[in-house]
Amino acid sequence: MERYSRQMMIPGFGKRAQEKLGKAHVIVVGLGGLGCPSSLYLAAAGVGRITLVDAERVEESNLNRQVLHWTRDVGRSKAGSAAEKLRELNPSVGVEVVEEKLGEENVGEILKGDVVVDGLDNYETRYLVNSHCVEKGIPFVHAAVEGFIGQLLTVVPGKGPCLRCVIPEPPPPKPLFPVLGPVPGVMGCLQALEVIKLLTGLGKPLVGRLLLFEGKGMTFEEVEVKRNPNCPVCGEGHGGRRSPQKR
Ligand SMILES: [Zn+2]
Repeated sequence: MERYSRQMMIPGFGKRAQEKLGKAHVIVVGLGGLGCPSSLYLAAAGVGRITLVDAERVEESNLNRQVLHWTRDVGRSKAGSAAEKLRELNPSVGVEVVEEKLGEENVGEILKGDVVVDGLDNYETRYLVNSHCVEKGIPFVHAAVEGFIGQLLTVVPGKGPCLRCVIPEPPPPKPLFPVLGPVPGVMGCLQALEVIKLLTGLGKPLVGRLLLFEGKGMTFEEVEVKRNPNCPVCGEGHGGRRSPQKR
């Protein structure tokens, strides 16, 4: 508990919130620019169990932003590289490694936890995470970055819009896009903060509010976003927890 003493001093946090973190299971999908900082801060905060999902290997061009992977890790599995650092930082955290690409066939097996962190770089897999989390009622924290900009949204099924309500059509896929390391660093830290709030019940999560970060002018902007009644994922008569016939 000495390790967590400074966060437990926060009014309303205390031993109770710390115990909630210790009992929680968080799944981080993607150990890139977002997943590295988010999983690092979750492990430091004492989340009891963290599952790291990534099938890719570390490349030299990742190292400007994927801060859990170091020069010696080039060529190694990203999930394995990240797990090693998290275990060293906090040996009391149970870190599990899933070296698989998330798809329709394994999403149900892998995404079993209290909260999911979206550390992905493509909308195809993000939509899969969104659909599964809405169907199973699992909260998830979305973030995306490009260049100097980032966005953040917390999805709590049944309580606010899902990712598909807010972004109905995926932007055209880009295999390579520019990213400046501190931008996913900021957004990944904010994801960890949202996860800690969801797990402890402290604060007000970013539900129904899309946060937009622009690093060049250093601005944060909040846009109110609403649930789309015709959303193919969470709208009336679709998916969600209210229509078990779809399962
Ligand atoms: Zn929706």
